[in-house]
Amino acid sequence: MAKYLLTKKDLLIWLKKLQQEYEVLAPVKEKKVYNFGHWDGKSLPDKSYQNTLKPPKDLFFPQHEILLKYKKVKGQRPIIKAADLPEEKRVIFGIRPCDAKSLSLLDKVFLGEEYQDPFYQARRLNTLIISLVCREPKESCFCTQPFSVEGSDIVLFELNDKYLVEPISEKGKNCFPSASYCEADFHIIDKIKEIKINTYEEIASADLTEKLDLIFDSPIWKELQEKCINCGVCSFLCPTCHCFDITDNQQGSKVRNWDSCMFSGFTKQASGHNPRPSGTERLRQRVMHKFKYFPDKYGVVACVGCGRCVEKCPVNLDIRQVLLQIKNGGEKLECRM
Ligand code: SF4
Ligand code: SF4
Repeated sequence: MAKYLLTKKDLLIWLKKLQQEYEVLAPVKEKKVYNFGHWDGKSLPDKSYQNTLKPPKDLFFPQHEILLKYKKVKGQRPIIKAADLPEEKRVIFGIRPCDAKSLSLLDKVFLGEEYQDPFYQARRLNTLIISLVCREPKESCFCTQPFSVEGSDIVLFELNDKYLVEPISEKGKNCFPSASYCEADFHIIDKIKEIKINTYEEIASADLTEKLDLIFDSPIWKELQEKCINCGVCSFLCPTCHCFDITDNQQGSKVRNWDSCMFSGFTKQASGHNPRPSGTERLRQRVMHKFKYFPDKYGVVACVGCGRCVEKCPVNLDIRQVLLQIKNGGEKLECRM
């Protein structure tokens, strides 16, 4: 695919042009953390930007979302009005490739063959994803493909004072004025491969789906769970976790809210029975869903190695260590980077 070289000034001019048509969201620093917010039209992420605290999923699948409103009328059927579909055209600039890939995983769930979520679909169709490849990984990251283009419409590589731009999708190609810029030569493209990554071969090469099949009833889950406080931070910050429930509020709305398999009420039934009665079954479910059930159904693990759960788990229950322990049949090993 053709790649183009832009100066920082060129990039700002192009983004400003996009801003005339789209709401441009970019990583915005507030209280020492980055999250996606309104782009100010002049600054680009500096060296302190590694990734956003919150994953981009809430830009497509918000934490709380009204699906429909209803009004009860005495003696009649309730009047129901579906919520309007989001129409805003947006650009998300500066998303990391692991997070862009997470959107392609969410697509499998929300835009599958059997069922398409109209709210998610509208946001995906109206959003242009411009990702920015990491120059250096965080200690907690363990993605093995920092150059992945999956889920991105356009990919950017930062090269000192220039940016290498690669339009990927048709949407990306249509939004990028390629005729205005020079095509990049291969020497520069080769340079990109020098970017450092955290290699995590022990995990990347492991066939965990087979291992997980064998250890469903293993004491390993209880042992791992002893540390976990079931706070749900790992699933709320995970870009690929997508479980939700739907509740009624007093104003007469059906609201979809994020949920977490780490919560005790997640599988609790109206009878009071809970098929996952303790933290042991809940932790097992989270790992199984990501590394066994999702691959069984969609052919790919539901983890992009962003490291958010590694960094933010309050008890340092490191998913990399969990995976290594599973790979080694329960034996505890220190991970090597
Ligand atoms: S963030 Fe850590 S403590 Fe909280 S639920 Fe996840 S694994 Fe357990
Ligand atoms: S499981 Fe952890 S490392 Fe993997 S995608 Fe989710 S938050 Fe990121």
